[in-house]
Amino acid sequence: MSELFTEGTSIEDDRAPAGPIEERWDKRRFGGRLVNPANRRKMSVIVVGTGLAGGSAAATLGELGYHVKSFCYQDSPRRAHSIAAQGGINAAKNYRNDGDSIQRLFYDTVKGGDYRSRESNVYRLAQVSVEIIDQCVAQGVPFARDYGGLLDTRSFGGVQVSRTFYARGQTGQQLLLGAYQALERQVAAGTVEMFARHEMLELIMVDGVARGIIARDMVTGEIETHTADAVVLASGGYGNVFFLSTNAKGCNVTATWRAHRKGALFANPCYTQIHPTCIPQSGEHQSKLTLMSESLRNDGRVWVPVKKDDTRKPADIPEDERDYYLERIYPAFGNLVPRDIASRAAKNVCDEGRGVGPGGLGVYLDFADAIARLGRDAVAAKYGNLFEMYERITGEDPFEVPMRIYPAVHYTMGGLWVDYDLQSTIPGLFVIGEANFSDHGANRLGASALMQGLADGYFVLPNTISDYLAKGPLEKIGDDHEAVVEARDSVRDRIEKLLSIDGDRTPDSFHRELGAVMWEYCGMERTDAGLRKAIDRIRELRQEFWTRVKVPGENEELNQNLEKAGRIADFFELAELMCIDALHREESCGGHFRAESQTPDGEALRDDERFAYVAAWEYTGHAPVLHKENLEYEYVKMTQRSYK
Ligand SMILES: Cc1cc2nc3c(=O)[nH]c(=O)nc-3n(C[C@H](O)[C@H](O)[C@H](O)COP(=O)(O)OP(=O)(O)OC[C@H]3O[C@@H](n4cnc5c(N)ncnc54)[C@H](O)[C@@H]3O)c2cc1C
Repeated sequence: MSELFTEGTSIEDDRAPAGPIEERWDKRRFGGRLVNPANRRKMSVIVVGTGLAGGSAAATLGELGYHVKSFCYQDSPRRAHSIAAQGGINAAKNYRNDGDSIQRLFYDTVKGGDYRSRESNVYRLAQVSVEIIDQCVAQGVPFARDYGGLLDTRSFGGVQVSRTFYARGQTGQQLLLGAYQALERQVAAGTVEMFARHEMLELIMVDGVARGIIARDMVTGEIETHTADAVVLASGGYGNVFFLSTNAKGCNVTATWRAHRKGALFANPCYTQIHPTCIPQSGEHQSKLTLMSESLRNDGRVWVPVKKDDTRKPADIPEDERDYYLERIYPAFGNLVPRDIASRAAKNVCDEGRGVGPGGLGVYLDFADAIARLGRDAVAAKYGNLFEMYERITGEDPFEVPMRIYPAVHYTMGGLWVDYDLQSTIPGLFVIGEANFSDHGANRLGASALMQGLADGYFVLPNTISDYLAKGPLEKIGDDHEAVVEARDSVRDRIEKLLSIDGDRTPDSFHRELGAVMWEYCGMERTDAGLRKAIDRIRELRQEFWTRVKVPGENEELNQNLEKAGRIADFFELAELMCIDALHREESCGGHFRAESQTPDGEALRDDERFAYVAAWEYTGHAPVLHKENLEYEYVKMTQRSYK
């Protein structure tokens, strides 16, 4: 493997204070320097991204009095991908009195992440979760309420309490509207300047420090320079490297990848979450997969026929010929096992030839029992919009026949490495939300991404960034500064190169092929031989891309092919790093399942002796350099994860 990467010095997070874990966040806030309100007005911060992480951060920094420039590639900030989030947001409120606590949310998250996340960060996340709900309720987010008017909750995978707050199947939308209103209030107040339809294509670094971005106006093609005292990336996840995923089509890695190329370490790129409950792919023409929220597993029962190749209609298969395999294998958590476990179990039964639907790539998610127990109206009240969405896409009514579901790429736990302050290895570059390598270790629990995005944006970043900004205001950077000119020229050169190839293949055709390689070899199950094959194929494809891609049109117009081509070029480089990361991690953990490392009953087998670290990769232009951050567990004992 040594030809693929080299190993460098270890890396450490020196920002989390020592001492009792429950006091660390308070200590850090007290220890950090502050910027007085009059000085804040003189400082500027660029925030790339207007999803839950970026929207909440920009609004909060604006409210604090900083001058904020907020960017997104959509036509409106409220169309960020966060709007698609369905099921809910976790918080350790313990309104149900069912044994929940900050300690339990912390424990569930560390365990759920298969002991590959940082204890200090996860504990802080659990603490802040409580404040998020209060903040959102104050904004008017219409969370579901119970009969008595109190906030309602439901359960998500990997936990035995009910701590997920929700707004039907539109939680992301409602939360994003809350953040968006807060953001627009600041736009009106003049503290936030909004740049919609702008795509960040390069990071500006001056003397080793992040000082701005180069962005393309996606309507006119103008290449713009924006400088600031600090840059925050909240650009979301990179699941679309697989082409087919539940992510919005626009989700991409460009913002973080450009920063990686400039020196920000990229952590755990191979940790991808495959969500067990998505509508199965229906054909080759498809460009997107649809999630059916995990919340459905509160009431839906997952099953397949006991017999192989059983093509009878589900209603014709009697109870004793059905295998409710999650309830059978994992009686303690049943249908609510975490996503990595449920996904692999679905793959296993399909590999055995017991899958249902076209191609045998599906399992049933059946609501018959819930409808009989609760009544149709109660089920409709909880999941109505999800049922409707399913029916529109498949033409089948889940009130009458079980849903068919299959795992699909959904979320990326990897991302830019950040310390406890959410600062990357580039001073002045902060990374929040799904874009950082986050608090979820090797597997994110359901309803925890919204929690993390809002924790970062409303509460953590606004506190930690002041410690950095207290050094400022930094010297102003002119558009003619050497580093700015270099960054701008590199963006122009790349665009020109993409437009000039004039080959015979569309950007999409490359993306589709890259995605198929990634799904086959770096998807639900990975092997040494498969990953090596993938790396070779990705390199060949990338070369072909740079000689055969055809990007019609020009830069000075709305040109979606040009946008796609730039993103796909970055996906190629990321894909190779993902495979190298997956190859070097010769253990199974969470969403990363190495076929060579499993227990006798087929569960993921970790190797804590060799791999209890965050793998943070440095870009070199050739073989990347691996820096390890060792993970230590003082408060949660590392054990083999069991949901049985
Ligand atoms: C279908 C679906 C359902 C989900 N349901 C849930 C759920 O119920 N609960 C839960 O906790 N999680 C859920 N998740 C996960 C969760 O929605 C995401 O992890 C989260 O919303 C990410 O938020 P974010 O702010 O980090 O990024 P995003 O919401 O993805 O926002 C990214 C922002 O960055 C901008 N951007 C990106 N690149 C650039 C660039 N180069 N230049 C300019 N702007 C850029 C985009 O325009 C956008 O504004 C779901 C995910 C999916 C796919």
